[in-house]
Amino acid sequence: MFENLTNRLSDIIRNISGHSRLTEKNIKDAVHEVYIALLDADVSLSVVRIIISKITKHALGKTINREFTPGQELIKIVKHELTLTMGDANSKLNFAVQPPAVILMLGLQGTGKTTSVGKLGKFIKTKHKKKVLTVSTDIYRPAAIQQLEKLAQEAGIDFYPSHKQEKPIDIVNSALKQAKIQFYDVLIVDTAGRLHIDDSMMNEIKKLHVAVNPIETLLVVDAMTGQDAANIAVIFNKILPLTGVVLTKVDGDARGGAALSIRHLTGKPIKFLGVGEKTDALEPFYPDRIASRILGMGDVLSLIDDIKNTANQVQTQKMAIKLKKGYKFDLNDFQEQLKQIRNMGGMNNMLNKIPGMNQLSDNIKLQMDNKVTARMEAIINSMTLEERAKPEIIKGSHRRRIASGSGVQVQDINFLLKQFNDMQRIMKKIKNGGVMKIMRNIKGIMLPGFPNS
Ligand code: GDP
Ligand code: MG
Repeated sequence: MFENLTNRLSDIIRNISGHSRLTEKNIKDAVHEVYIALLDADVSLSVVRIIISKITKHALGKTINREFTPGQELIKIVKHELTLTMGDANSKLNFAVQPPAVILMLGLQGTGKTTSVGKLGKFIKTKHKKKVLTVSTDIYRPAAIQQLEKLAQEAGIDFYPSHKQEKPIDIVNSALKQAKIQFYDVLIVDTAGRLHIDDSMMNEIKKLHVAVNPIETLLVVDAMTGQDAANIAVIFNKILPLTGVVLTKVDGDARGGAALSIRHLTGKPIKFLGVGEKTDALEPFYPDRIASRILGMGDVLSLIDDIKNTANQVQTQKMAIKLKKGYKFDLNDFQEQLKQIRNMGGMNNMLNKIPGMNQLSDNIKLQMDNKVTARMEAIINSMTLEERAKPEIIKGSHRRRIASGSGVQVQDINFLLKQFNDMQRIMKKIKNGGVMKIMRNIKGIMLPGFPNS
């Protein structure tokens, strides 16, 4: 997420850390570099100017606190300003209305509206414990309605069937009626996008808005489009009273421009980030955590949330009990851990949230991508039950059989068994430890890289 910007800012801060104190000259140099880095990240010029003038004012006006180095001092100031630019706190969904609370999702085509409906529905169901119905009014794009049906099914939420022959306005009216009859808490309405903003789309959205009277009107924009996303938000915000923004595809190489510009340009908060294609790849937006991540300071709080949300609590408990009773950590347990890492968006997603980890070379990061954990899982799948329970019996001929069974080299099996042994040692040490401890240790042993990846 926002890797380029993060690397640039980390460099600037490292540079100024070499000085023994903040002087007017080195502050000005550093601030100028921050200015360029923000522009390169496609942050809107007016926003960059404001951020920079505030940083300069604070940095120059500061009676330098002897406890902090210039690098720490600057990072504090920059973090504070980046945070304020994105809003001061997490902005939650509003449900304070006679149910069903209607959430209207809109945006240009391909930004991730339909995907976000599925993610949001799942989030509201699991986090807020609400009964959620979804409906699609996208009668234009072939298979758009079926796409939502499939996503709703994956997300475990209900779907109100609509048909291409119906008018969007009739669809929402009957979905709303159904939601009331069946006591749904929330109705999420997916709408049709267009490639560009045009009058017919805007008119349709306005009519739907009047018909459903939503408590939340969320605009979905694509972070990959940088400040264009912010400009589109400005236009939509003039036509409809938006209550928030969902910023999607921040898992790609988005540059940060949209995240940093939207709040300032529209006055509306980003409420969620889309961080992948799966239905659980949605994160509530916390300005201070994102500022930390942008500055390469990590985001341990979100990582803990991820672990709490995704780690399979039942499996984790089972494993803890088993280990406490003195049973050995075996390959089945190892495979379960790999699965959980994958569910959390893979090793890279986790590493990016750990302070300092953004500075790992891309080469190392590549070696830890999902391919690696998926391959390790595949190898374990090719083992017999006995081998999984008693890894020490896996000798030469076993290794060759497993390698050909899972389509890898014998050295890959050796590598996996070494990783497993390391993990087993760690598990012995932290028998009574929590998931966090386990995760901290996993990081250490995954680093050496997987051969042939
Ligand atoms: P819509 O036209 O606005 O409804 O967009 P869709 O929901 O159909 O999404 C368009 C494409 O973007 C699909 O391939 C999605 O899987 C993908 N997509 C949506 N959100 C995200 C995200 O947060 N990250 C990534 N990587 N892809 C996403
Ligand atoms: Mg769609």
